[in-house]
Amino acid sequence: MKCKFCKEQARIKLRSYNLRLCENCFQDFFKKRVRLTIEKFKMHSSGDKILIAVSGGKDSLCLWHVLDDIGYKTQGLHIDLGIAGYSEKSKEYVLKFARDNNFNLKIIDVKEELGAGVRELSRIAGRVSCGVCGMLRRYIMNREAEGFNCLATGHTLDDEASTLFGNLLNWQEGFLRRQSPVLKANESLKKKIKPFCLVSEEEISFYAFICNIGYISENCPLSKNATSLFYKHILDEVEEKMPAAKLKFYKQFIKKGYFKGTIEEKLMPCRICGYLTVSGVCSFCRLKEKLNEARV
Ligand code: SF4
Ligand SMILES: [Zn+2]
Ligand SMILES: [Zn+2]
Repeated sequence: MKCKFCKEQARIKLRSYNLRLCENCFQDFFKKRVRLTIEKFKMHSSGDKILIAVSGGKDSLCLWHVLDDIGYKTQGLHIDLGIAGYSEKSKEYVLKFARDNNFNLKIIDVKEELGAGVRELSRIAGRVSCGVCGMLRRYIMNREAEGFNCLATGHTLDDEASTLFGNLLNWQEGFLRRQSPVLKANESLKKKIKPFCLVSEEEISFYAFICNIGYISENCPLSKNATSLFYKHILDEVEEKMPAAKLKFYKQFIKKGYFKGTIEEKLMPCRICGYLTVSGVCSFCRLKEKLNEARV
């Protein structure tokens, strides 16, 4: 089979686009799509400094690689969550990637900062691990993005489609309105962007392979019962029977402009740290208070 663009031997088949491409043309196609996504949603402009949240998985490392390649000023931020047997490996991949590419990286260690890893923190907080982990990561990423124009995350089309599916299944209107490729900045929150929101994990795997990007391939051990993985699995089955179903599903959602609606939420600065919150003290500071109580 020949490459659609250059007629060399095709090595990659993209069912969603009904395209067969050689490795070089695939890389061009991939980068062009990321660039067009950034332009389409006005995510950032050429001189912007972007902080990229990197977990050690393929999505965030490939995002860092491609944004640098396109010519943006980037820095990586890795949060070591202190999850035994998983966080160490994740960090190794991030460190190696940053070293090999001579990229700037900052690491925040949750255990060093709070005295415990995510598993223990969730026990103390009496909440599920992923809830505590998500809250911590949002808070730390936002805090560390000071001095940057925006914060980029490696959320993929698969992530966005499965979140959308879950939000629709449960009719979580507030979440639907916030599920935007770009979250605007406000007094205490940095602008957040998702340049991979129209790129599938399959495409990212091809990119990682071609660019020789090493990454942690196993899932977090605390993700076993995560509903998001179940929703992803369902959508993978749909995609198998109907190629491009995820892309159509998510693109239609964007076209309808659901997220442009505003939810009137009364936010106020946290009494302790100033982060905007719905209650007097933000979740991060409340967790710190609980930790202090637990240690007394
Ligand atoms: S699966 Fe849950 S605990 Fe593990 S990294 Fe993801 S959000 Fe955090
Ligand atoms: Zn080609
Ligand atoms: Zn606070």
